[in-house]
Amino acid sequence: MSQSQIPSLNSLHSGVPERLAKEADAARTRLYSIRTLPESKPRGEPVRLPPNITQDGFDTAINALVKILGEKGVELNDKELKDGWYMEHPNTHDAYHVIDQEEMVCSALAYPCSTSEVQSIVKWANEYRIPLWPISMGRNIGYGGAAPRVPGSVVVDLGRNMNQVLRIDENNASCMVEPGVSYFKLYEEIQKRDLPLWIDTPDLGGGSVLGNAIDRGVGYTPYGDHFANHCGMEVVLPDGSLLRTGMGAIPGKDGADNPTWESFQHAYGPAIDGIFSQSNFGIVTKMGFWLMPETGHQSYMITFPREEDFEQIVDIIRPLALKRILGNIPQLRHAIQELAVTGKPRTNWYTGSGRFPRDVVREGVKALPVGDISWVFYGTQYGDAASIKSQLDIIKSEFSKIKGSRFMLPSELPADHYIHSRVNVCSGVPVLKELDWLNWKSNAAHLFFSPITPTDSKNARTIHNLIDNLHQKWGFDTFPTLCVAGREMHYIANIVYDRADEDEKRRARGLMREMIAAAAKEGFGEYRTHLLFADQVAETYGWGGGALRKFNETIKDALDPNGILAPGRNGIWPKSYRGKGWELVGEGALQSVKAKI
Ligand code: ADP
Repeated sequence: MSQSQIPSLNSLHSGVPERLAKEADAARTRLYSIRTLPESKPRGEPVRLPPNITQDGFDTAINALVKILGEKGVELNDKELKDGWYMEHPNTHDAYHVIDQEEMVCSALAYPCSTSEVQSIVKWANEYRIPLWPISMGRNIGYGGAAPRVPGSVVVDLGRNMNQVLRIDENNASCMVEPGVSYFKLYEEIQKRDLPLWIDTPDLGGGSVLGNAIDRGVGYTPYGDHFANHCGMEVVLPDGSLLRTGMGAIPGKDGADNPTWESFQHAYGPAIDGIFSQSNFGIVTKMGFWLMPETGHQSYMITFPREEDFEQIVDIIRPLALKRILGNIPQLRHAIQELAVTGKPRTNWYTGSGRFPRDVVREGVKALPVGDISWVFYGTQYGDAASIKSQLDIIKSEFSKIKGSRFMLPSELPADHYIHSRVNVCSGVPVLKELDWLNWKSNAAHLFFSPITPTDSKNARTIHNLIDNLHQKWGFDTFPTLCVAGREMHYIANIVYDRADEDEKRRARGLMREMIAAAAKEGFGEYRTHLLFADQVAETYGWGGGALRKFNETIKDALDPNGILAPGRNGIWPKSYRGKGWELVGEGALQSVKAKI
């Protein structure tokens, strides 16, 4: 077991803030205590070359890159691969590999120090026809981490040297950040300056603010839609040229940045920012965000006793959310997650094989403060005390229509209960607590299946049954987290698997593929997916003879004729790759990723 010091935020852009150092240490100890995989093992091959490049050609290209960035700016991916853990994550591969660890690896890493170095890297890639894979922090866990879609790509690790909070404007409640700024870092910076502003953070605080937003990640304050709350971008295009979007396209006075860059999103002409999210049309080097003025807040949980309460819960949430009485995007979870978030392994309750039985869930939760429940709703209200009270009165009265429901405040629950972590997250304080459920299994990794469905009881039941039945078929526990808004729900099913167990990995892939296909038949599509399933998900968005795919390909080919930028990201392939077997649309295809290179 590693006893090394976990890097702190003061020493490393991706490090842990001082206030969480002890907690991080304890989390690592717990995770490693049930790890059976070795820290690393010898590589099968020294360096995975990019496609269609000889060793000589690669060496020449790398020498040229070293001339641009210096020795420190380039690193070959030729060492043993270490999965590490959340706070000490790799930038070489997907730490939560769902196929062989060595399949989705880069050939080398480039560490630019400036936008102009990013432009030089892009020009270099065009000259040598080497695919690039930009990452900000590389903590896109559950969706592919730092792994490139095309093995042998050069990962452009933007975060290592480009990690400054460039501006915080207290009056405008906005900021401008570089790719390597984590939620932890932005939060600490605001605390240091003692500003009355909140950030919005996802469940874990180590990701990049910019990277998460362009992958359209979400958080839990009223500013939880990260992309919707961005304002202004600077983008290096695939030919190496530079673009500023929004008001940033107007030069500021005397060479300064435009003063309304972080104030008005759409500016003039087509609103193009969206094409740089979940795409491979550019490398984002700066991005503006709106921050929330700090306010009062009150988190709470409501529990429901019966499985069948599910439909009524959803139908009660819809009007409350549509009328904006619910203060944030609340979460609805199943009772089994109350066990998982305690951080104890599954074997603490059940040592049998197969699915975790329902009666064992029942016995488990009975022993917890929540008692014998089936569903739990975590919400937060915002504003001054009087408005929070009036909101809560309505919410309590609506949910009390469900017999046996129980409303609880954090003050009524023990100090180690998960709700206290929700209080932090829902008031913009980035934490690590959500890692706890990774102790469910040894060597635990996870994949998210994240379909969007209408917020109504019928559709909620359809998607839940579909997901639950298929989890049963493939032998996985169902961990549903529904992030419920007024018109749609993000149903996040978290597949937790043991990455030392090849059969579990095979089943996790099979489950994903079958859920994507079955959900699409009902008209439900994923809002985001792991890179290995990107082609299949993109294919489900096939209305009009694949009109959307064709449109994306037209943009891709116009901007990136040499196909160097993140080929295959979100199922968008440049013309030089299309129809040559790169698209992964079945298990057979997954098994032969290597054979295709
Ligand atoms: P995080 O650490 O915040 O989860 P990542 O750095 O892993 O984010 O990025 C998430 C995804 O977005 C990655 O798959 C990567 O391909 C893409 N990405 C990240 N940063 C950039 C960027 N600055 N420009 C273009 N694409 C990016």
